[in-house]
Amino acid sequence: MSKLPIVSIIGRPNVGKSTLFNRVLHKRHSIVDKIEGITRDRIYEKVEWNSKIFNLVDTGGYIPNKSNVIDTAIREQINLALQESSLVLFLVDGKDGLLPSDKILAEIIRQSGKKTILVINKIDSNEMEPLSSDFLSLGFSTYASISGLAGRKIGDLLDLIVTDLNKNKELNNKVNENEIRVAIVGCPNAGKSSILNRLLGEKKSIVTNIPGTTRDAIDSEIKFFEKKFILIDTAGLRRKSKVKENIEFYSTVRTRRALENSNIGIVVIDAELGFIKQDNQIVEEVIRLGKGLIIIVNKWDLIEKETNTMKTFKNNMIYKFPNIQNFPILFVSAKTNQRISNVMKESLDVYKSWKIEFSTSKINKVLKDAVEKYNPPSARGKHIKIKYATQTGTKPPRIGIFCNFPHLVPMSYKNYLENQFRLSLNFFGTPLIIKYLKS
Ligand code: GDP
Ligand code: GDP
Repeated sequence: MSKLPIVSIIGRPNVGKSTLFNRVLHKRHSIVDKIEGITRDRIYEKVEWNSKIFNLVDTGGYIPNKSNVIDTAIREQINLALQESSLVLFLVDGKDGLLPSDKILAEIIRQSGKKTILVINKIDSNEMEPLSSDFLSLGFSTYASISGLAGRKIGDLLDLIVTDLNKNKELNNKVNENEIRVAIVGCPNAGKSSILNRLLGEKKSIVTNIPGTTRDAIDSEIKFFEKKFILIDTAGLRRKSKVKENIEFYSTVRTRRALENSNIGIVVIDAELGFIKQDNQIVEEVIRLGKGLIIIVNKWDLIEKETNTMKTFKNNMIYKFPNIQNFPILFVSAKTNQRISNVMKESLDVYKSWKIEFSTSKINKVLKDAVEKYNPPSARGKHIKIKYATQTGTKPPRIGIFCNFPHLVPMSYKNYLENQFRLSLNFFGTPLIIKYLKS
């Protein structure tokens, strides 16, 4: 697994950042994936160009509209965005010409030392090309003149981006296969940092804190049962931010980035608030990214307990999100240290499930038994015949099931088979991806 680089579009308001963002994403074949942002419609998307995949970030929100002043708080936001980036697209407006705020931004970007492509936008035709010469005095050696609106020379820009990313050795380093990377994610104030501190404080075997290995979070390393775990805290940097409206923006970006670079996501929930919509979204995100998942209901000390309080809490969660029953849910208190010791053990178990490999004969035995117990129902007058299965991948486990009419297998039957696999093969805490294939 190599880390996905982040390419951010930075520029003052109205230079065309979101237009370019949308343009790149609507280019045929360039869209791989998308995530809904919280504060803006779309802020962060995966792009594939010439087999290179990167995350494109529209930082549109951080310089307030109509702001001619770049004050300390805004500078801080820009620096935060820069820290996350592998490459910066510094967007300027060719029609407006070079403005003082462009110069200030250029200076901030240059001081960050990040690789930068100067992108002169709104050059809608060849005749307008001379307008771009104005900006060369900014001193960026790599530049492109484009029109985000007209879609002019966008392919050339993407080529430049990919060439640049390929040159970056650091990004092409593979993540160490011998370590288990765990991202601690969740809503602000759920208790992520407190849990991390407990985990670190509890173990005598802390090796080291590795500041900024991923540039955006503090990674801590601990040993548990001779296994090396890297715990990735997504809360840390958020605190430094002073501009309130952008906190969610950065939390979203950071959460996703931390998860992408991890094997397991621990989603921390505030017991007092219950399992809220945002928690649900984060859990979905972990599953969608194919990571191992552990749910921690924190602040359990604040809950008044009666018989079955825990069971009722759990059932409410499952009612809201049935798939959650396939993942461990721990009830802890970072404050009193209650059950915190289970977290590492659970992480190890989930990791084992996540990378599990089954023999083909075992998978087929489960499939055969399941089909014998309940035959697939006929669909549209066709008799569905399930033939055999094979594991097609791990991390997370993937199973291919071969049958005569893959597209006719009803969802209810798919759910039944998934449950049978989960029950019989006894694995927990990982997404299971089952594909139905024609045979
Ligand atoms: P942002 O604030 O930087 O995200 O800017 P927007 O993407 O919202 O664009 C600001 C304005 O510039 C909008 O009216 C766009 O239609 C316009 N615009 C964006 N790109 C181009 C372009 O390439 N050519 C021209 N002529 N207008 C553009
Ligand atoms: P983060 O934003 O998710 O990193 O949350 P923090 O770890 O900073 O915790 C947010 C607040 O909740 C702090 O005031 C903590 O002291 C408090 N807190 C965290 N865990 C617990 C807990 O288990 N019980 C109680 N009562 N408070 C907690």
